Amino acid sequence: NAFLKVEGLCKEYGNGDSLQQVLKEVSFSLNKSKFCVLLGPSGSGKSTLLNIIGGIDTADCGTIQIGNTVLETMDDKHLTQYRRKYVGYVFQMYHLIPNLTVTENIETGAYIADDPLDVRELIQILGLWDHRDKFPNQLSGGQQQRVSIGRAIVKNPSLLLCDEPTGALDYHTSKEILALIETINARYGNTILMVTHNEAICPMADHIVHLHDGQIRSDTVNHEKVTAA
Ligand code: ADP
Ligand code: ADP
Repeated sequence: NAFLKVEGLCKEYGNGDSLQQVLKEVSFSLNKSKFCVLLGPSGSGKSTLLNIIGGIDTADCGTIQIGNTVLETMDDKHLTQYRRKYVGYVFQMYHLIPNLTVTENIETGAYIADDPLDVRELIQILGLWDHRDKFPNQLSGGQQQRVSIGRAIVKNPSLLLCDEPTGALDYHTSKEILALIETINARYGNTILMVTHNEAICPMADHIVHLHDGQIRSDTVNHEKVTAA
């Protein structure tokens, strides 16, 4: 009953003597609405894997199935639709638009959606209600990351892809951001894939995939999930 099924994924960069195999026959699958953590040392291929799943990079071999859709079979038009409507992205850096308010930044993620979430309710869930008319430079790093999560989630994507979302934040703020991602997962049921090199996050995940040198080293379902809050 997998929602995301990755099979035999390979990726190479470079050519000739500098050819590097970044992903080597990577396979794993994830059930709907689960929170999966993708761990591994720097350079192990985590971001590359995430970017291929998100449709912003392409694999050299293998297949990715999301729901009833096979990613490699989509033409450019469908791939664009897929990226816009079904995938939300959160990065380590917030990439907010400086001259738009919190509300307006979040709304930029909504107008391409068929069925966006209620922005006012979302802003409350994000803990940004009192800050909704402020500009990014009036916010802390943690608050800015909340805005970028809001922008990614407002289109209610099937898949929320997070690449080191707490990488620029201190320990306490990171915990708050993780608790927020859990709340969103529980409230809206998005399937979440989070790249991190912080092993401390593992107990909070439903599913833990460990990547090493482009290969899956371990793939574990966590039956003793604890909450970050
Ligand atoms: P991680 O996210 O685990 O740190 P990445 O997926 O970012 O790993 O990178 C895996 C390897 O692929 C690294 O050695 C990196 O230098 C290389 N790589 C990533 N993107 C590119 C690219 N666009 N061109 C060439 N090499 C790349
Ligand atoms: P169209 O209107 O051309 O059928 P859609 O916007 O409905 O395109 O879908 C764009 C692409 O995303 C399609 O290839 C579709 O199969 C795929 N897709 C549809 N629903 C989902 C979903 N819930 N999760 C992931 N991908 C989906």
